[in-house]
Amino acid sequence: HGPLLEVSELRVLIGPDESPVRPVDGVGFSIAGGETFALLGESGCGKSMTALALLRLLPDGGRIASGEVRFAGRDLLRLTEARMRQVRGGQIAMIFQEPSTSLNPVMTVMSQIGEVLVRHRGLEGAAARAEARRLLESVGIPDAGRRLDDYPFQFSGGMKQRVMIAIALAGEPELLVADEPTTALDVTIQAQVLDLLARLQAERGMGMLLITHDLGVVARMAQRVGVMYAGELVETGNRTDFFRRPLHPYSRKLFAALPTDVQRQRPLAALGGNVPALDRDFVGCRFADRCPEAFDVCRREAPVWEQRDGQAVRCHLYSAGRSAAAIAAATAT
Ligand code: SF4
Ligand code: MG
Repeated sequence: HGPLLEVSELRVLIGPDESPVRPVDGVGFSIAGGETFALLGESGCGKSMTALALLRLLPDGGRIASGEVRFAGRDLLRLTEARMRQVRGGQIAMIFQEPSTSLNPVMTVMSQIGEVLVRHRGLEGAAARAEARRLLESVGIPDAGRRLDDYPFQFSGGMKQRVMIAIALAGEPELLVADEPTTALDVTIQAQVLDLLARLQAERGMGMLLITHDLGVVARMAQRVGVMYAGELVETGNRTDFFRRPLHPYSRKLFAALPTDVQRQRPLAALGGNVPALDRDFVGCRFADRCPEAFDVCRREAPVWEQRDGQAVRCHLYSAGRSAAAIAAATAT
């Protein structure tokens, strides 16, 4: 059987047709059942917009210009909104950085889990209450039975995140989309929540799309990684190869921006320069202005994908015509 999720040539436009911003510009990747795929990059690279697009939750003025999002054999971009609502929260669930954006402050935890249970699993009454309690227990909330009738403000930050995870799991999703799920938490709580997510994922065999700017989170959670820059993927590969040998100069900068001794626990330091504005046409490589390796052709031609064993990279350093020695010299650390 094929992958659980297969995104191809996804393009998102925001703003007027004459001068749109293109936050996602031809992105493609796939996720197998039970696998975690991390989208890595600085903020403003299009990671969150990619996730919102495949869930069809783009902000006002945003639209999908082209592409396919195949999930369990269907193109989500062609479903009616009613069918899409069944997919969201049911087959695909989402968690975000800020629990406050998805938790309703004036509803108890029970009512919020209950909404998902009735809509996606037809559970009500005592059966729903028992299942909600089981879900709170599974995400490690102490005294789960008594906390069902509490409101979100009665939970600490880390516990709120656990409540959000319980709500997300209530529909028994096959795919979890997690956008910076632990970024707002302190390091200790962050590690606990990540471990919880990894355990729940393994138990349930869920696929996960994990959006992060944090190499430590990728190292801990992902089997495969895709690096995004300026609306495009620029490198993909499995985690082991990526950490052993990041190929794209942008990927290498992400590693270099981290103090090595805390490499696994810190968000990205400043890289120098900015992600370019995405409201213009690009000629050549989008990273050229910040790339220490840039050479003549980089400003004239957009690089295409090149394969290096299991890794794929979009960079002229790896173009077919270049010699192994030239590549080695340019990418020596
Ligand atoms: Fe740098 Fe050129 Fe590669 Fe772009 S194509 S990342 S500018 S070396
Ligand atoms: Mg984001």
